[in-house]
Amino acid sequence: MQTIRGFRDILPEQIRLWQKVENLAVDLFTAFGYEEIRIPILEKTGLFARSIGETTDIVEKEMYTFDDRNGDKLTLRPEATASICRAYIQHKMYATEPVRKFYMTGPMFRRERPQKGRYRQFYQIDAEVFGLDAAYVDCELIFLLNELFQRLGLSGLTAHINSLGCPECRPRFTRALLDFLEARKQDLCDICTRRMDRNPLRVLDCKVQTCQTALTGAPATVDYLCPACEDHFKTVKTTLEKQGVDFSVDKSLVRGLDYYTRTAWEIQTTSLGAQSAVAGGGRYDGLVKELGGPDTPAIGFAIGFDRLVEIMEQLTPASAPPGPDLFIVALGDPAMELAYHLCCDLNQAGIRTDTDFRGKSLKALMKRADKLNARYVLIAGQAELAENALILRNMQTKEQVSIPMDGLRRKIETLLKNK
Ligand code: ATP
Ligand code: MG
Repeated sequence: MQTIRGFRDILPEQIRLWQKVENLAVDLFTAFGYEEIRIPILEKTGLFARSIGETTDIVEKEMYTFDDRNGDKLTLRPEATASICRAYIQHKMYATEPVRKFYMTGPMFRRERPQKGRYRQFYQIDAEVFGLDAAYVDCELIFLLNELFQRLGLSGLTAHINSLGCPECRPRFTRALLDFLEARKQDLCDICTRRMDRNPLRVLDCKVQTCQTALTGAPATVDYLCPACEDHFKTVKTTLEKQGVDFSVDKSLVRGLDYYTRTAWEIQTTSLGAQSAVAGGGRYDGLVKELGGPDTPAIGFAIGFDRLVEIMEQLTPASAPPGPDLFIVALGDPAMELAYHLCCDLNQAGIRTDTDFRGKSLKALMKRADKLNARYVLIAGQAELAENALILRNMQTKEQVSIPMDGLRRKIETLLKNK
């Protein structure tokens, strides 16, 4: 039996970098007042169709959707924002405290062509802020990403930012875009010609090379912003500059989801080949209302956890896991019984202790202790038990001391905790 295409195991040997990233992210989010939220992996299909958009790649061809036994259409979440909005509305959070900041990490599912940095089950670290429309919040989120990457020792990442405007300025832009597209209709792919009628902005996100060529010189949202959006974007840029956050304005950035308004961004890297986006985010001021809640500004980002770890793997050579503090070489049944209890007691006391119950020889067990990279070995052989004193060996200095059975646990605790 093998994992299915695009799905993979993350083994203990690989997990340390994941834990390091997650711990740093949690510390950072917590320091900035973000609270953890956990949302279901399965939701009604309509939630994603309505929020991400019917004509997006995700909804058109990437979602894992199936009929439940009662006929409900369900989908494995392809992203977190829609579900977090649903939770915000469902629990009427806006009524008690409209300003909320959340983070979460977990798996997402998209049926894309698997390749390095692109999986069908992948992981995201996600942050969302509700109830604040100030440009400073946009900056805070981009600053947070920047800070996290710095703490992880990653350089060479750039924030590409753009403003997509709002319902006020979008129509004027859409008209200009449609005029532009109409004149190049014969050069666009079939999907794009269909998108022109339903969702012209999506055409800008088409990955087909001929479409990309035809789109050279297409109108850009930033050139059609209303005064309020213009102001908002200006504050974002000047504030980020003041903070020393490295960014560049990318007029062609549109993002693959329909709900974005105003600021949208992507953090890109050059070290992952074709998969250049490590994180993406943006404002979605209309989404909470669209999903049935009150008019609430909101904004968020998602980090591609798998891709982030892949960059880190390139930088950090794999290191051996830390070995146990103590390995008990137990020879014979009475010694094994003693070893079992000692292991439980010492592990409970915070001294990482291991043993082996397979009845192997002294030589084999010493070899195993060495392989595990144990700091100390406690030898409990028949001779030692008979003399009521076990041997504690420091694996580095090779020094050995004899420890009386009486008060054994306490003595080991003191010895190992002091070293
Ligand atoms: P891409 O342009 O690479 O397809 P996206 O715009 O579809 O990314 P988002 O929906 O913004 O991605 O998700 C945020 C982040 O999640 C991305 O920047 C990327 O790092 C990561 N991501 C998205 N899809 C995948 C995938 N299939 N496998 C691994 N990571 C992914
Ligand atoms: Mg994608």
